Amino acid sequence: MMFDRLCIIGVGLIGGSVARAARSQGLAGRIVGYGREQELTNLETAKRLGVIDEYFLDIGPALGEADGVVIAVPVGAVESVFRRLKPYWSDGCVYSDVGSTKSNVIAAAERVFGAVPANLVPAHPIAGAENSGVEAALPDLFQRRRLIITPVPQTEPAALNKIQSFWERMGAQVSVMSADHHDAVLAATSHLPHLLAFALVDMLGRQDEQCEIFKYAAGGFRDFTRIASSDPTMWRDICAANKDQLIPLLHQLKTELDKIEYLLANNDGQRLFETFSYARNARQRFLDQLEN
Ligand code: NAP
Repeated sequence: MMFDRLCIIGVGLIGGSVARAARSQGLAGRIVGYGREQELTNLETAKRLGVIDEYFLDIGPALGEADGVVIAVPVGAVESVFRRLKPYWSDGCVYSDVGSTKSNVIAAAERVFGAVPANLVPAHPIAGAENSGVEAALPDLFQRRRLIITPVPQTEPAALNKIQSFWERMGAQVSVMSADHHDAVLAATSHLPHLLAFALVDMLGRQDEQCEIFKYAAGGFRDFTRIASSDPTMWRDICAANKDQLIPLLHQLKTELDKIEYLLANNDGQRLFETFSYARNARQRFLDQLEN
């Protein structure tokens, strides 16, 4: 067993899946949840489903003698969680988070604690779904998925090793990199595609109010827009937290769209074909990598 008492702060899809995975792998003795007073549904469901043993609405009793804490709230709420944790911060405990952006979590810790505590190990599982809430939580969500740890220079090696083996025992493949590198990579492969899906459906949805275009939408539309079903609060927070990486990418994308508009307007089928062929081959290389 790795933790005698594991406290999950925010028992939603990811927090609930950590609880389920930790339980199924025998990594924690007691698993407790902490959540918002005004929204009891998730916590009650989590207890009813046996995802957590009990829940608390006060942070002190929730922590108790916890030796492991995982913060799994939207990234915009992490700073307020740090503020609540601060009076109870314990050297005997290892803290981690699952936020989709990392530089802002580190900056929030610096604002609250002065410097990132050595026993706080920022992490991000590249696993999830467009569903939210504890009912969607799965014990095998992290199996064969990547997990990125973004330590700071003062991160204690023992804390890092413990969080790394915690995730490995839940089935994840762990990589370690800087928070800046993480945020740059994820902006391109995750945050920009989500923005695009939200933007496209926002635009078409408004048109549809007049002309029923969704009625004739087919599989391609469904595939492309699946991620626009993701939680708006979570994605508002991610985009705001990583805007410095996202805005230059949006400029590049606009340039690409302008190029395509130009090729269409000038009937340049050859260069349009070359653009589509390049993209198709690049996607195939990505799929080949996934299989290897
Ligand atoms: P979720 O299912 O909506 O769960 C979020 C949890 O945070 C809920 O338990 C919610 O509690 C709580 N919460 C929301 N706002 C809060 C606030 N202001 N203060 C305190 N608690 C609050 O979301 P999720 O998908 O698990 O995402 C959680 C974290 O994981 C986010 O940081 C996200 O970036 C990261 N992540 C998500 C994915 C994904 O694909 N979903 C993948 C990797 C990482 P209530 O029950 O009170 O609403």
